Amino acid sequence: MLPLIQFPAPARMVSEDVADITSGIHGLAERVAYKYAAIERQHRFRFLFEPLRLLMEQGFVARYLAGENPFPPSVEIDPANTCNHDCEFCIYHSLHGPGRRERLPDERLFSLIDELRDLGTKSLLFVGGGEPMTHPRTVDAIERAAGYGMSCGLVTNGSLVDAARGARLKQAATYVRFSFDAASRETHRALHRHDDFDRIVSNLAALAAADGPCTVGTGYFINEGNWREIVPNARMVKDAGAHYIQFKTYSGLALDPALHKRVLEQLDEALDLAEPRFDVHIADRLFENQAFQVRGYSRCHFQAMKTVIGADGWLYLCAQKRTNPAGRVGNVHEQTLGEIWDGVRRRAVVDGLDLVGCPYCVHDRQNKMIEFLGHFGAPHRGFY
Ligand code: SF4
Repeated sequence: MLPLIQFPAPARMVSEDVADITSGIHGLAERVAYKYAAIERQHRFRFLFEPLRLLMEQGFVARYLAGENPFPPSVEIDPANTCNHDCEFCIYHSLHGPGRRERLPDERLFSLIDELRDLGTKSLLFVGGGEPMTHPRTVDAIERAAGYGMSCGLVTNGSLVDAARGARLKQAATYVRFSFDAASRETHRALHRHDDFDRIVSNLAALAAADGPCTVGTGYFINEGNWREIVPNARMVKDAGAHYIQFKTYSGLALDPALHKRVLEQLDEALDLAEPRFDVHIADRLFENQAFQVRGYSRCHFQAMKTVIGADGWLYLCAQKRTNPAGRVGNVHEQTLGEIWDGVRRRAVVDGLDLVGCPYCVHDRQNKMIEFLGHFGAPHRGFY
């Protein structure tokens, strides 16, 4: 005779009491997220990393949706593919690996800024490839762009932002953000494979104390090697006089549950350091901890909203395509920015783009938003 199989008791059927079952706070991520939201609602830096800021560019978006090809009001530029650090977790690591030491020639760096002014660019971020401050003219370039009325950001490892450069940046830049993700010399050296922790701390304090309107912050990339230093680092950044700290992880790579719990506990404590003059930012993905996206949009719209000028001279579809030759739409050593933007190569790359081949995209929300604005004509449109 076959053994009797014991089936588990049927789960309770959910009916109208679903509202009771799903309300309230169910776990650590939700509890920390509500605490974070309560702080952010009051804070002047609340929308510092908000993707919906794109909605403020209504005229530009309307032109794009009308079928025009306007040059983007926001651009990223990599002055150099050289870096004085060697972080193994860097998403642009391959750009400054063996054989890659490209740098935009001084004259081309400045003439690009002139072209951007003529094209109506409003914001310019000096960022990756390598460490932007390894280009000796980066501060000059920021001052030139700021002199044209552009808002300039700088993302840097901080080691080359000495007091003299910091004083100039504090006047010219809109923001400077240090990638600073340890609270001890040992951890910093292990992560960045360079021994300049003390210099970075003093550079941060000098920049924060300098005279000028620039916002000063830090970005803390959380990983297995530094999660224990989340709270002491946040305290250090606050004590240095910075305006904010931002916590993040790789987008699209969920933390394993045990590490996620430890990280959330640390973030919970770090949030207690927030006050009107110092904001503690936590990327949404740290709460969601998701590893996939449902990309329902017909094409990538964001590639038309912002572009990237690489230190190798290539213009890339977007920041996340920087390391992928398939994302190259033209070269600034051969053409002007305007020619590239309207050129056949860019059109072919955009038309050939397969979203399945794109990484987990940090611009997913913006793509959904533009898709909706462009395609909404649905039945029942008056119901919401
Ligand atoms: S990763 Fe793909 S979908 Fe995302 S912005 Fe770049 S090209 Fe567009």
